Amino acid sequence: LFITLEGNDGAGKTTMAKKALEYLQKKGYRAIYTREPGGSMITEKIRTILLDPENTKMDAITEAILYAASRRQHLVEVVLPALEEGTIVLCDRFIDSSLAYQGEGRKLGMDAIEQLNQFAIQGCMPDLTLFLAIDEKTSQARLKARDEKKDRLELEEEAFHQAVRRGYEKLLKKYPERIRAIDASQDLEDVEADVIDAIEKVLHV
Ligand code: C5P
Ligand code: MG
Repeated sequence: LFITLEGNDGAGKTTMAKKALEYLQKKGYRAIYTREPGGSMITEKIRTILLDPENTKMDAITEAILYAASRRQHLVEVVLPALEEGTIVLCDRFIDSSLAYQGEGRKLGMDAIEQLNQFAIQGCMPDLTLFLAIDEKTSQARLKARDEKKDRLELEEEAFHQAVRRGYEKLLKKYPERIRAIDASQDLEDVEADVIDAIEKVLHV
C-alpha cells in the first residue's frame, strides 16, 4: 500500500505522516515514513541543490527535471523495495507536488510535468493521496511558528503559493478516486482523526 501526503508548505504533511506511521505500527502493520525530495543518500543531495537559497539562478525546467530525477531514484531505492516486501509506505510528497509546484506554480503546465514524471515513475502511482488543504493565513502562521531557516521555495511570494493551491484543487477534481481532501486548518487532533479515517478506508478495517 502506497500512501502519499500532499499540500502547500505549512499544511502539516510531515506531522500527519508521523501520526499515521505511529497508528499503523501500533496496529501491527509494517510501515515506513519517507519524504521527497530526499529520503536516500543520492536524493538528499539533490534536495540540497534544489533548496539552497543561494541557487538563485535555478531554471524552472532544470528544477522540474531535478525533482523528477529525485523522485525516480527514491522510488527505485526506497519505495518499491518496501512495497515489494509488503510494507506500507507513507511518502511525504510525490508526483502531485510537481504537478502543483512546477506545473502550476512555475507555470510549466501540468501536461508537460505529467509526461516528465510518468517517464520517471513508469506508472507507479499511489493507492491513496491525502491532500491536506489549508488556507494561506493558517499555513503562513504555522511556517512562522516553525522558526527554521527558510528554504528557497518558502521565500517565494504569495502568488506562487496561491497557484500551487489552485494546482492541488485541479488535481483533486481530476483524480477524485485517488485523492482525498482533508481540512488541515482544523485542530491537529481533528486533522489526525480524518487522516486515520481515510487510511482505514483503504485498509478496509
Ligand atoms: O515538504 P518539504 O518542506 O520537504 O519541501 C521542501 C521545499 O520544496 C518546500 O519549500 C516546497 O515548497 C518545495 N517543493 C517544490 N516542488 C516540489 C516539491 C517541493 O517546490 N515538487
Ligand atoms: Mg518545507
